[in-house]
Amino acid sequence: MKKYETVIGLEVHVELATKTKIFCGCPTQFGGKPNTHTCPVCTGMPGSLPVLNKKVVEYAMAVGLATNCEINRNCRFDRKNYFYPDNPQDYQISQLYEPICLNGHVNINVDGYEKKVRIHEIHMEEDAGKLIHDELKDGSLIDFNRSGVPLIEIVSEPDMSSADEVIAYLETLRTTIQYLGASDCKLQEGSMRADVNLSVREAGSDKLGTRTEMKNLNSFKAIARAIENERNRQIVIIEDGGQVIQETRRWDDNKEESYSMRSKEDAQDYRYFPDPDLPGIFISREWIDEIKQREPEFKAARQERYISEYGIPKGDADIITDSKKMADIFEEASALCNSPKKIANWLIGDTIRLLKEHDMDPDDIKFSPENLAKLVKLTEEGTINSSVATEVFEKVFADNIDPESYVKEKGLAQVNDESALRDTVQKVIDENPQSVEDYRGGKEKALGFLVGQTMKAMGGKANPGLVNKLLKELL
Ligand code: ADP
Ligand code: ZN
Ligand code: MG
Repeated sequence: MKKYETVIGLEVHVELATKTKIFCGCPTQFGGKPNTHTCPVCTGMPGSLPVLNKKVVEYAMAVGLATNCEINRNCRFDRKNYFYPDNPQDYQISQLYEPICLNGHVNINVDGYEKKVRIHEIHMEEDAGKLIHDELKDGSLIDFNRSGVPLIEIVSEPDMSSADEVIAYLETLRTTIQYLGASDCKLQEGSMRADVNLSVREAGSDKLGTRTEMKNLNSFKAIARAIENERNRQIVIIEDGGQVIQETRRWDDNKEESYSMRSKEDAQDYRYFPDPDLPGIFISREWIDEIKQREPEFKAARQERYISEYGIPKGDADIITDSKKMADIFEEASALCNSPKKIANWLIGDTIRLLKEHDMDPDDIKFSPENLAKLVKLTEEGTINSSVATEVFEKVFADNIDPESYVKEKGLAQVNDESALRDTVQKVIDENPQSVEDYRGGKEKALGFLVGQTMKAMGGKANPGLVNKLLKELL
């Protein structure tokens, strides 16, 4: 078999975090009873007129500047005409001819190598409503709450060649946009959506193969599986002497296969034209400067600073700064208890573990930096031992409880009192003659068992160092 390489370009839609919609004052808030976040504008009533939300332009510019784009100082909106029930105007307001951002790039890190992924453009547009298919009554219902929610679409050049690169690219976009506060970028909830354009070609060729576009990818895992599957599907076609058809395919993550939605032949003619209801947008240099000045400290800069200022390892800093939420917690908690490495350990260890267990994002963290700092203080002062600390942390994670009062209430403070411990240790020694003999015969392991038995007898609250010491003494 010949050698093939994969060529991938991405179209990424991001829902912007504005309070109101792009062309009207309705709230963008997710959920709500169907059709309660609507007005004549976002339900496409005749005679209603769109008024552009300035914040949308600012977020789009901020994302463009953070991804090294040029800002198109004279951009405008176009109508993309198509009929579909979730699209009440019969056209979507989007940008085709003069998008707001052009010619950018981001640098991605994959397994130790760096790669530049070019961004062709970023444009602004409105989201559509949602169709709800009612299978019982064999009909479809429509909810326009999402209609008019602002989106940006980030179109990359076909610069990626593996699932790992695609995921690194999406992660880079996601952290950048989250740091800007422009979106929460949740794939599962649809506030970030990626369409994967993929083709294969013989290794070394500089001609692009025919691509397909894959939709409905709502997790990194689904994206990785879909890429692997589509690459293999195309190679089989080519090896059989066939030709890949340019088409849009829908990924079914349960069946782990994609199926054709529409081919290029059925592609619609959208009859784009400049929207006559919306004047062109002039972006002054001052406005661009202002947005640039508001830029936050991004992941890379924070990572460097955490290493030099707080002295935590590079790997820790990398994980913590992946999410602005976690990075903020790290800084605030470290300021409160002055043990940055201990704070880092709770974040990269138990926090990440619990997030995974509950299928949550760092953005969903509920605990406060204050309570994390208190927990670290309790361990540093020796008030609680490490296994109790883990137990308390689970409570902090789940309900943001105050560790100090919790430890008091539940009587979890560590027993550091030698005389109180001595009795228990003696009892454990008396009850386990075999282990005592083993230990005296040179089996170090037996000591561990006796420590365990003592801890158990003390309800886990004994100071393990002290137990060790006492056992050795009494043995
Ligand atoms: P269209 O105008 O049909 O939407 P674009 O030129 O805008 O097509 O490209 C859409 C996306 O597809 C871009 O992200 C681009 O990088 C990617 N793309 C274009 N051609 C290829 C190809 N041959 N293989 C893989 N990706 C491609
Ligand atoms: Zn509205
Ligand atoms: Mg396109």
